[in-house]
Amino acid sequence: MKKIFVVLCLMMFNFALATTDWNSEAALKRVNTIGSKLLKANNVNYDIEFKVSEEEDVNAYANIDKEIYVYKGLLEFVNNDEELAGVIGHEMGHIINGHCAKQGVLGTAFAVIASMISKNETVTAIGTTLAQSKLSRTDEFEADISGIDLMSKAGYNPLAMVSLLNKISGDAYIDILQTHPSGEKRILNAYNYIEYNYASKLAKGYSTDSYKKALTMINPTIQKRKASEKLTTKFKKEQEKLLKKKEKRAKKMQGTSSAWDGYFTTLQYLAG
Ligand SMILES: [Zn+2]
Repeated sequence: MKKIFVVLCLMMFNFALATTDWNSEAALKRVNTIGSKLLKANNVNYDIEFKVSEEEDVNAYANIDKEIYVYKGLLEFVNNDEELAGVIGHEMGHIINGHCAKQGVLGTAFAVIASMISKNETVTAIGTTLAQSKLSRTDEFEADISGIDLMSKAGYNPLAMVSLLNKISGDAYIDILQTHPSGEKRILNAYNYIEYNYASKLAKGYSTDSYKKALTMINPTIQKRKASEKLTTKFKKEQEKLLKKKEKRAKKMQGTSSAWDGYFTTLQYLAG
């Protein structure tokens, strides 16, 4: 009788897990839907495969095999699909800017590119792979703005990127090995790019607490810039330089090995 009771309890426990816990199929569907939308709206005509990892870390990465992994922890961490589009767009940004190719040249078969860290315990888990990564701060800025382009053209509010960046650069954020620029700089980089290129979207605003917190943080810098003619001119020059750099990179990508030719389509599109 005792044995039957234990078995019954175990069955009930498993049932509870199955019904209330994680649904990996639904998660993969969610990631695939957003990923496909980003690819289609931006005329990205090569295959990027989306995968979901069942790990609890708040993390995502892209690799040279053009796979984008999104962790379970990250899926539960984002506010909504728009922020998730920001994550996936950022990872696509690493691929289309050739950051993954750079990693490939270095011989890292499983190159870990993007790591969004918000919990201390993730450091040990991905510390080794991050150390192997030769990602620069510039790569991160580039991936952020490409993500903004990709999500905007797919109908997502690009301000969700600002909201997301603020969330991942919160109290527990660790600027590991300095591969990831400090939160405020990264948020400003994204915000400025949106202001210059997607002014109408900026005017509409965004309603998450995280976005509002980000604005509070960067507002003094923005107001200072707006009040100064010199700083405004500098801002415009920087943005123009950024667009030219994007165009130049697109052309450079065209000259790389045939495996990467496909990326030119995207970069050219994004540059235009
Ligand atoms: Zn990244």
